[in-house]
Amino acid sequence: MFTCDNLGVNDAGRLTFAGQDAAALAERYGTPLYLMDEDRVRRNCRLYRDAMRAHFAEGSRPLYAGKACAFKQLYRIMSEEGMGVDVVSRGEIHTAAQAGYDLANAYFHGNNKTDVDVAFAMERGVGYFVADGAEEVSAIEAEAAKRGIRQKVLLRLTPGIDTHTYEAVNTGKVDSKFGAAVETGQAAELTAFALSQAHLDLAGFHCHVGSQVFAEDVFERAAIIMLEFIADMRKAHGYEARQLDLGGGYGVRYVADDPALDIAEKIASVGKTVRETCARLGIRAPAILLEPGRSIVADAGLTLYTVGAVKRIPGYKNYVSIDGGMADNPRFALYRSRYTCLPAGRMNEPRPFVCDLVGRCCESGDVIQKDVSLPADIRRGDLIAVCTTGAYNYSMASNYNRLPRPPVVMLRGGEAYVAVRRESLDDLTALDV
Ligand SMILES: *Cc1c(COP(=O)(O)O)cnc(C)c1O
Repeated sequence: MFTCDNLGVNDAGRLTFAGQDAAALAERYGTPLYLMDEDRVRRNCRLYRDAMRAHFAEGSRPLYAGKACAFKQLYRIMSEEGMGVDVVSRGEIHTAAQAGYDLANAYFHGNNKTDVDVAFAMERGVGYFVADGAEEVSAIEAEAAKRGIRQKVLLRLTPGIDTHTYEAVNTGKVDSKFGAAVETGQAAELTAFALSQAHLDLAGFHCHVGSQVFAEDVFERAAIIMLEFIADMRKAHGYEARQLDLGGGYGVRYVADDPALDIAEKIASVGKTVRETCARLGIRAPAILLEPGRSIVADAGLTLYTVGAVKRIPGYKNYVSIDGGMADNPRFALYRSRYTCLPAGRMNEPRPFVCDLVGRCCESGDVIQKDVSLPADIRRGDLIAVCTTGAYNYSMASNYNRLPRPPVVMLRGGEAYVAVRRESLDDLTALDV
């Protein structure tokens, strides 16, 4: 019935999340409300960490992709769970630093790091830079030379794999804005260029093939292409890559008909491919890095809303409006993403009423989900839960229509605490002069 085992129904017929009554949490903290199941986040981290230790070479580990969701408490958790992190901006670096996260374990991504970004990250001691192209290699070299250090870098390559997901999240193809293509020879050129820099220590190579990936062997195919490239670079330059970062992207279950991936099994299979390919190519197996974002936090999140208006247009369609929307969850508007939406306070009632669940923004595209089934007399004041919102919701939230962003309340061992407080109206005007 549920997409994740941290969801349930209690004796009062109300939805529970991480064992806690959703309605009671809404009462206590107000809506809209982001909830995050800390125990689930930690469980997901351990799943990756343990499987990667078991199936990959020494030094292999997961890096949490903070773009999925980033605030200080999450970086503290990542630190405690021994996770590396993938950062993409000064803002993420600053957040991690403020949380006391050791940036030596951070990998700095992005297809356009400005000179200011590069200097900032090096000043803060970010361990690894993932260079997207020749300009970045030069910029990192220049900054490292100025500081008299040797900066560890990885090069972002595009292995030319189509993951058959949505266009907007498909990044591993040759015509991507990210990285240097293996197929066109640009990856080899970039490698030769990086190796010729006096202040760069080339740790290895990176690729990221896409997001919400369920397809059978995407990571295995990427690993083979990348390992063959590593073997080629060994032949050409005598250079042995120490790290191979295969990026993030494993899919999560948003609705009942999405498959449930067994991450440990997936990692075991990639491990087997890496071992076999290295043996065939006669190269030493590099440490493997993976960069899960969504699959660490998505199923640890749930959003609660309160119903405002119910509009019935006989012969056409029905709308249920809630007190949040595209400002706190833009994913349907952006990608037509699917979600499981539940009447959190009335879980045991039949749900014959089919409607579009829409937000409160002045925008017809402000839809959370179409064709949602709710109780026949769903009404103002009822509670709606949108499940699996831990990834790319809070991190993509905006103040559109001057809506304050909801708080993030963490659930841990049966207790709840505020990790990000609710924005106030004064927060909204804090930058205005
Ligand atoms: C987005 C991204 C990730 C995380 O992807 P998920 O689908 O959230 O696992 C990891 N690495 C890079 C480079 C990314 O751009």
